[in-house]
Amino acid sequence: MENLKTSKAKAENANRILNALTELEKEEISTLLNEIKSMHGYANELLKQKEAGKICRDCEGECCKRTVEEEMVYEIDYFLAFTEMAEEERAKVIEALEIDGGILKCRLSSNNGCLLPENARPVVCKAYFCEKSEILEDELIRLMIPVISKYLQLQFMLKTMGHEIGGPPE
Ligand code: SF4
Ligand code: SF4
Repeated sequence: MENLKTSKAKAENANRILNALTELEKEEISTLLNEIKSMHGYANELLKQKEAGKICRDCEGECCKRTVEEEMVYEIDYFLAFTEMAEEERAKVIEALEIDGGILKCRLSSNNGCLLPENARPVVCKAYFCEKSEILEDELIRLMIPVISKYLQLQFMLKTMGHEIGGPPE
C-alpha cells in the first residue's frame, strides 16, 4: 500500500498525523523519538569522524541527484523529520514534492542540501555511503539497522492512537 502512495501524499499524511496528536500522545512517543534521534546522532558522529561532509561537498551530493525519493522515503521518515521542523518548513517540503517527478532526482534535494534535518534523514539515506569511503557504509548499516525496529514500534504506537502510517517492509 505504501508504495502506491505519491511522495506528496505520504508527506501530507505524516503532517496531518503530527498536527492531530494531543500533547499527551506526543509525550507518549517522545522517549521512542529520542532513542531514534540519538541513533541518528551516532551515525552523524561517525560521518564527522570520517570527514564525510567534505567528501560529499566535493562531489556536490551526486547520489541525491540520482535517487528517486518516491521509492525509498517512507511516510514514517517524513513523520520523524517533521517532528523537528516548523510548520512553514514542512510546507516547503510538501511544495517541493509537487514538482513533476518525471526526472531521476530526489525532490528533497535542494541547492542547500537535503530539505530534511540531519538528525532525522530517511534511514535509507543515512545508511548509504558510496565507494568513496571504504568502511563507512558497512558501519552506517550496522548503526541504522536497529532503527528499523524502532520505526515498527513507532508505527504500532501511532496505530494504537488511531493513525495508520506507512513504513519499511517488515
Ligand atoms: S555518498 Fe558518495 S555520491 Fe553521495 S554525496 Fe557523498 S560522496 Fe557523493
Ligand atoms: S532525502 Fe535527502 S539525503 Fe535522501 S536522497 Fe533525498 S536529498 Fe538526499
